[in-house]
Amino acid sequence: MATKPFHPPVRTLMGPGPSDIAPRVLEALSRPTIGHLDPQFIVMMDEIKELLKYAFKTNNDVTFPVSAPGSAGMETALVNLVEPGDKVIVCQNGVFGGRMKSIVDRCGATPILVEDTWGRAVDPQKVEDAFIANPTAKIVAFVHAETSTGALSDARTIAEIAHKHHALVIADTVTSLGGSKLFVDEWGLDAVYSGTQKCLSCPPGLSPVTFNNRAVEIIKNRKTQVQSWFMDINLVLGYWGEGAKRSYHHTAPINSLYGLHESLVMLQEEGIENSWERHTANSKKLIAGLSELGLEPIVPEEERLAQLISVSIPDGVDEAAVRSRLLNEFNLEIGAGLGALAGKVWRIGLMGYSSRKENIDLCLNALKAVL
Ligand SMILES: *Cc1c(COP(=O)(O)O)cnc(C)c1O
Repeated sequence: MATKPFHPPVRTLMGPGPSDIAPRVLEALSRPTIGHLDPQFIVMMDEIKELLKYAFKTNNDVTFPVSAPGSAGMETALVNLVEPGDKVIVCQNGVFGGRMKSIVDRCGATPILVEDTWGRAVDPQKVEDAFIANPTAKIVAFVHAETSTGALSDARTIAEIAHKHHALVIADTVTSLGGSKLFVDEWGLDAVYSGTQKCLSCPPGLSPVTFNNRAVEIIKNRKTQVQSWFMDINLVLGYWGEGAKRSYHHTAPINSLYGLHESLVMLQEEGIENSWERHTANSKKLIAGLSELGLEPIVPEEERLAQLISVSIPDGVDEAAVRSRLLNEFNLEIGAGLGALAGKVWRIGLMGYSSRKENIDLCLNALKAVL
């Protein structure tokens, strides 16, 4: 018998990503595919770049979406800036710092790990100490919004420390873009990458990045070739760069880019400051309701993300059984703990289009029923 078409169930996505996708974005994805060098498509690409500059709060010319998920944005930032023999300070306060370290290793460079407790922000004093111990470190890389724990780090202070020591700063803003205050230019973040399936509420598979002039100069003056052909910014900019002739580099994921364009138009309509405020206000409501159920956030308030809340699991509760009942009985997805927090927390996301009153009510009612 022939395999039937796949029709997924309709879920409410309140985990660490992907988040719920707005109906407008789903509709945009199904618009007719045109050629990726069609003049009208190129106009849309230029609009995406402008909209991303708005979202990142930057004037960087080199701002575009990498055609691959957030991890590829991470890899793009690192492989372009890191050369064999470099020293790179990598802050690890959750899963994603570990991934950065692994990429630095593969670049033939030396990672210097600055570790903090899972569930806490990066401690800027430790970054300062790492520079004092390693004055030739070229880069510090850190995660702004650590989705594996729910902690927000102080990007501005980390960037200040890096620049004082004549180093560049790479920031992972996969979960912060659109949900937490982020000022790429004002804070002096040199290379920044994000993802589409968290607070931008698009399908996964694209990674917006932005590089400032300082970073671009370093890339242009590399002694060695970028180890990755696909991610080499010098080549990608023939397709996404400014100026006259756009030439083939790879075939862009055309319909996914329609979706990203639509979601960025929605962000502009709402106003990014309003989006930050919506995330904050909804998170307060959810946390108040969770507290009534005896579920307390593990991250101290001043370091806590609005779009991803880790709560500790009450004693004697089978955490996996609860998640599977939420999924099967309420079509509601929440996240499990990762790494050091596996089995200890649930991660509840209120990202982008998921950050809505209906979702808060559903989540609280479902948890009440199941617990
Ligand atoms: C989700 C996430 C990533 C990885 O993104 P993918 O799209 O899954 O590759 C990287 N960093 C952070 C902070 C994330 O939340």
